[in-house]
Amino acid sequence: MATLTVLGSINVDHLLQVDHFPRPGQTLTANQYDIVAGGKGANQAVAAARLGATTTMIGCVGEDAIGAQMVAQFGADGIDTAAIDTVPGQNTGLAMIYVDSQGENNIGIWPGANAALSPERVLAHHDRITDADLLLLQLETPVESLEQAAELARASGTTVVLNPAPARDLPDSLLRHVDIITPNETEAEQLTGIAIDSLDDADRAAQALHQRFGIKTVMITLGKRGVWLSEAGEGRSIPGFVVDAVDTTAAGDTFNGGMVTALLEGQSLAEAVRFGQAAAALSVTRMGAQSSIPTRDEVLGLLA
Ligand code: ATP
Repeated sequence: MATLTVLGSINVDHLLQVDHFPRPGQTLTANQYDIVAGGKGANQAVAAARLGATTTMIGCVGEDAIGAQMVAQFGADGIDTAAIDTVPGQNTGLAMIYVDSQGENNIGIWPGANAALSPERVLAHHDRITDADLLLLQLETPVESLEQAAELARASGTTVVLNPAPARDLPDSLLRHVDIITPNETEAEQLTGIAIDSLDDADRAAQALHQRFGIKTVMITLGKRGVWLSEAGEGRSIPGFVVDAVDTTAAGDTFNGGMVTALLEGQSLAEAVRFGQAAAALSVTRMGAQSSIPTRDEVLGLLA
């Protein structure tokens, strides 16, 4: 069976539901408070595992109870956790998330143990990368470690998928090892300088990513408008599913986890985008990050 390795962040999310985001200097009482497991790497690994992929996670948690609890939960989701390191003297990474009445979010992050995911740690788990069929990366762990992982993957024929989130500049040395890139509109603009206000803009940004960095496949996620898929220079829009969104936290993560799961099953790029979109659409109808990720049966039900 084809295998996935997700390398990335593990966070505990503190989730506050508010009527509107607090203004500078304002103190606001929330309507609801929850502590849920999050972090882009962990969310994507949980999405993939829940949606049917054989998944290994490379990451770091702190030496605290919440870190141990989250690793136990990944195990319950069927993720191989042997390459998750516990970092002495560190806290598990954390995110403070406000969700307003429109379902929009506003997030502050403390990396904690995620910052300890060094190139040396990546090398210590190199077989998890070289033995995998696909490596899925995001940007909440040190970039030099992502470069190390992508280089190992490329050298061994492992497909490299980069979700370049959250938005930041990236070295060419990482981008040239990427096979599939999945930015949202903000991230695509950050990497190309092209603001995405229309599908024409998405096409131009995709062309720039193909030409400047030699990335074969570009998937620009456009929120509820769906995805712009560009394969070797040929682009098209794949509309999303229409649902009532209550919280878009982890929509992108669920899309990425679902999309790579479908690719590993041998589906085409367009089919994989549809599968990822169906999973993401279900996730935005529920609160939270990992708590909102649907099961495979739910996704198949929406696609039927
Ligand atoms: P986030 O940072 O909120 O996790 P993102 O900005 O990385 O998300 P988006 O482009 O907002 O990513 O969403 C990813 C995918 O999720 C979209 O391509 C779409 O398929 C699905 N999606 C997001 N929002 C909605 C929505 N309101 N209704 C239906 N599908 C949605």
